[in-house]
Parts: sequence; structure tokens; C-alpha cells
Amino acid sequence: MDLLDTLTAKGLRGEVPTREEALAVLATTDDELLDVVAAAGKVRRRWFGRRVKLNYLVNLKSGLCPEDCNYCSQRLGSKAEILKYTWLKPDQAAEAARAGVAGGAKRVCLVASGRGPTDRDIDRVTDTMAAIQEADPEVEICVCLGLLSDNQAERLKAAGADAYNHNLNTSENTYGDITTTHTYADRVDTVKKAHGAGLSACSGLIAGMGESDEDLVDVVFALRELGSDSVPVNFLIPFEGTPLAKEWNLTPQRCLRILAMVRFVNPDTEVRIAGGREVHLRSMQPLGLHLANSIFLGDYLTSEGQAGQTDLDMIKDAGFEVEGAGEATLPRHRADVAAASSAASACGTAASACGSGGGCGPCGGHAHAPASEDTPASAAEDTDASDGELRSDLVKVRLRGAGTELAPNA
Ligand code: SF4
Repeated sequence: MDLLDTLTAKGLRGEVPTREEALAVLATTDDELLDVVAAAGKVRRRWFGRRVKLNYLVNLKSGLCPEDCNYCSQRLGSKAEILKYTWLKPDQAAEAARAGVAGGAKRVCLVASGRGPTDRDIDRVTDTMAAIQEADPEVEICVCLGLLSDNQAERLKAAGADAYNHNLNTSENTYGDITTTHTYADRVDTVKKAHGAGLSACSGLIAGMGESDEDLVDVVFALRELGSDSVPVNFLIPFEGTPLAKEWNLTPQRCLRILAMVRFVNPDTEVRIAGGREVHLRSMQPLGLHLANSIFLGDYLTSEGQAGQTDLDMIKDAGFEVEGAGEATLPRHRADVAAASSAASACGTAASACGSGGGCGPCGGHAHAPASEDTPASAAEDTDASDGELRSDLVKVRLRGAGTELAPNA
């Protein structure tokens, strides 16, 4: 198939496809699916070998958010029966983080619900990062606290954060349909603030909210242009008690096509399968590893994932290996861009404003040279059969780990 040969050749060179080519990936048929996975898998292995980076979520503050993001179980007015608690103490968060690191996670993601942090919240997170790094100095820390005000990204960077997560979620055109309390431009601004402060930018999307193929392609190209180092691909978890509870729009095949498209547009960027992996990919999860080079270990913020040991077994059984603490995630040329970005921020110039397309790479370890190269094919029925129904059998609320007395899943 000419399309896949072209995309593979571009991806192996680190080049980005055209919008039309990205749309064509989403329009391939189920008969072509394994060819699509194989083609994008070559690109994945070119830049990331067979490594899988494990990330571990610690929900520092859960529920009771004043924002109204329709997809979120923590939103204003959510009736989802999730855990609700205010800030974990540093030692509680560090204990949860330790479980993830012991399970093989290289990065800990510290997340708090809310519109954005106060300066007091930055102090709390600073104390929490210190407690985590005291126990494990090598662990990467990504912070996710919502919209940032001036100088907060710099404070987080100075306190030892490696990365900041803030997802664009969907296209600029449809953003107003999913959230009214802040804008797409607000989100872009925060990603730029984080990037400009020398933090590695982690920013991704949510698929399955009723968006079009064009919307998906728009947001993925926007993330590429923003210089996101890590692109989490979430598949909507339709929580009972939220406005999108009946939005079952995804099939495993659709999810794989989306992951392949994201990989082709971001050949040398960390692509992470995030929330909804178990719910939507189900028994097809191992094929997702041929496309993404990163997943979350264990549970999500407010929902359960499969057992951490099952994640590890899946990686091994599929012929992949967990990325070690001493290994850099991004390929060497991206790490070089990261160094330039840090230097720019150190001299007071925002990387995003000086045309740098990259971001900070993960600290510690040595950059990988690209892995060995492999040499280098109409829309399917993509709607889930359960469209329009609640699926409480698939969506399990997290009732263990952070914020509870029960052991975390890692
Ligand atoms: S701001 Fe974050 S926590 Fe609050 S409703 Fe939106 S996604 Fe959920």
C-alpha cells in the first residue's frame, strides 16, 4: 500500500506526514489494520527500540473541581462515585510513589484536580517532590496541576520537576463543546509556560468524545507544533455521572488506528497509551505496544487499571522490555533540542517563542542512538456495539491506593 510505504519512509527519517496522509490512516479498513500496525511499528522501533516506559499516577487531590470538563469524573457537578479528598501529605504521596517505582515505573506523575495551583499549592508540591526524591533521586517527576500562573513553572523546575503535563485534549474547533470554564488558548498558554521554563512538555489528547477525524488530526498536529515531548493518548472512560457517560464511540480497531496516526505524526516523540487502555483496547492491548512506547502502570486517577503485574507480563509476553532508570526516553537529536531549550530558558528566552521545536528531555542516563531500522496499505465500521449504553462492567472506580488505607496497584 503506497500510503503505508510513504508514511514508514517519512517516519524512519523523522519526518511528519501531511494532514491528508494522517486522515487516510484513520480511514483504513479492518482488513488493513495489521499492515497499519506493522508500518507504524517500524517507526516506533526506529526511535524507541522495544523499550516501554512505565509511568505511575499519584492523585494528590481528588474530585471537587470547579471546572466543567465534560469528560472528567472530578468535574463540577459530577455524580461519579469517585474518591474525594484534599491534598495528600508529602509522606503519603511519597509512599504511593514508592510503590510505583518498585513496580518498575521510571516516571511519577503528581496530579491534583482544580483549575490551577495557588502559590501555597506549589509549596505543597515542592515538599512532596522533595520527599519522593529523597527516597529515589533518579525518579522522573511530572507535575499536573492545571493552568499555571506566571513564575509557577519556574518554581516547579527549580524544585526538581522534570516535566509538566497539560493536555490539549481536543481540537481548537471543538474545545468549547467539552469545557466552558476555560479555553483552548488557556491550555496552549500553560503548555508554553511549562516549556518556556525548561520543563519537558507532556501534552496529549482524549479520543472518543464524539470528535471527527479532522478534529483528531488537528489536535495531534497542534501537539507536534507545540513541541510536546510526550503525547498521552487517552481513550474516553465514560464515567456514569458525567455528561459523556453514554459516549461509547470507540472500538479496539479504532484505537489502534488512532495510535498509529499519532505515531506517524510524532515519529520521534514519546507516545503514551493513557487512560482507557483496558476499557477500549481490551484484548488488543499488546498490539498497542507496537505503536506507543509508554504506558501507565496500574491504576489511573479515579479508575482502576489492570493489575500492575499484568502490565509487566503483557510487556514481556509481547516481546518488549521495561525502560530502565538509566536509559533516556527520547532519541539523541530530541535530547539535543532539549538541551538548547533549557539553555534558552536559562537565559530568559522562552523556547516556544524562539522557534525551538523540542523540549526538555528526561534527565539522567544517556540518550539512545536510534534503534536498528526495519525496511519498509477506507473507513471501517468504527462504532462500538454498546454505543449509547452505560458500561459499568468496564469502568471500575479506583477505591485503593492514594487517598485510601488500601495498598496501591503497582
Ligand atoms: S480541570 Fe482537570 S480535574 Fe477539573 S474538571 Fe477539568 S480535567 Fe477534571
